[in-house]
Amino acid sequence: MSYVSHLECSAGCGAGPFDPRERHHLCSCGLPLLVRYRINQVAQNWNKSTLPDRPPNMWRYQEMMPLMDDGDPVTLGEGFTPLLHATSLGRSLGLSALYVKDESLNPTNSFKARGLSAAVTRARALNAHTLSVPSAGNAANAMAAYAAQAGLPAKVFMPKDVKKPFIRECELYGADVTLVDGLITDAGRLAAKVGDPMGWYDVSTLKEPYRIEGKKTMAYELAEQLEWQWPDWIIYPTGGGTGMIGMWKAMDELEAIGWVPKGHRPRMVTAQASGCAPIVRAFEQETDYAEPWADAHTIAAGLRVPKAIGDFLILRALRESGGRAIAVSDADMVRYMKDLGHYEGISAAPESGAALGALHKLVADGSVKPDDTVVLFNTGGALKYLDVLDSA
Ligand SMILES: *Cc1c(COP(=O)(O)O)cnc(C)c1O
Repeated sequence: MSYVSHLECSAGCGAGPFDPRERHHLCSCGLPLLVRYRINQVAQNWNKSTLPDRPPNMWRYQEMMPLMDDGDPVTLGEGFTPLLHATSLGRSLGLSALYVKDESLNPTNSFKARGLSAAVTRARALNAHTLSVPSAGNAANAMAAYAAQAGLPAKVFMPKDVKKPFIRECELYGADVTLVDGLITDAGRLAAKVGDPMGWYDVSTLKEPYRIEGKKTMAYELAEQLEWQWPDWIIYPTGGGTGMIGMWKAMDELEAIGWVPKGHRPRMVTAQASGCAPIVRAFEQETDYAEPWADAHTIAAGLRVPKAIGDFLILRALRESGGRAIAVSDADMVRYMKDLGHYEGISAAPESGAALGALHKLVADGSVKPDDTVVLFNTGGALKYLDVLDSA
């Protein structure tokens, strides 16, 4: 049973509503679309006591997922990742309640699996014949895997300096790989230029409405795993911001269906790379949008996003939550990805090292208190980036 009602402009421009049974990418104003549900009906008909009997993947929240009358999800078992109490790492920071949400255990080794499971599910239902995506690496791997699972051809566009394992993994799933001279924004331009005339279905971050729906499940899970209480802090490495925007949307939804108390949200913290920190700069300058970052460079490929189309939504979530935005150097990322490994046995990507670096700063300046509950997102595993360990 689907409760999806319509698609709505995330900026409230007044266009729409749009029909989710048709293909829509961006709003006519050029900004992202969000999926809306008949939330009062969900609140009446859905009880959290149904959850323990459901499969341990992100589709357990099916009432609030974009499943319509047109079929089953395209799934590889994504989601319901462990929330680990990181006692040793916590002790090293003087924190008693540090948790790591270990997203490296998703299919293809990162949380991109969630977004792409949802996006490919909708693309297949909308009769897409070919899928395309520009990516820094992890989104391409996830897209290629879910496209293979759905039986659809995949075209991926990545910066030509992307690490080898990302290219090889795309090939493993049978995707067509194009390497682009430039950054992910350039890859996006080329993907659109080649793909639009061919009718390819573009699953770029926030350029279709469903990746957010996949990523929002991180917050549904967090609430369920913490028995419907939010932590004090969520620390999240932010590139395009789908996760940040998705979790904030999930908090609206969970409040609306009455599963979490209203008005006690976590402080949301964005971690970025010193070499590419457009959201940090906009947050500090108190602007509503983020200027593109010139000369973006960082080993954390997932954070090398000079301009995020959903910047205003990320900034809104940070501000409304009383959160922060913090930049971390590449050297610190490597140091802290090793900390996650040494203290906890967690395989962490440099992006997660950035999140831990941000947490160190918040502890040092007294913002995070010893007994605060902190959830740090390990958005991906270390295996595809092991060469960065040589550089430190
Ligand atoms: C893509 C990616 C990010 C950034 O995620 P957004 O939701 O797009 O901000 C962080 N970490 C890793 C490992 C990634 O692949």
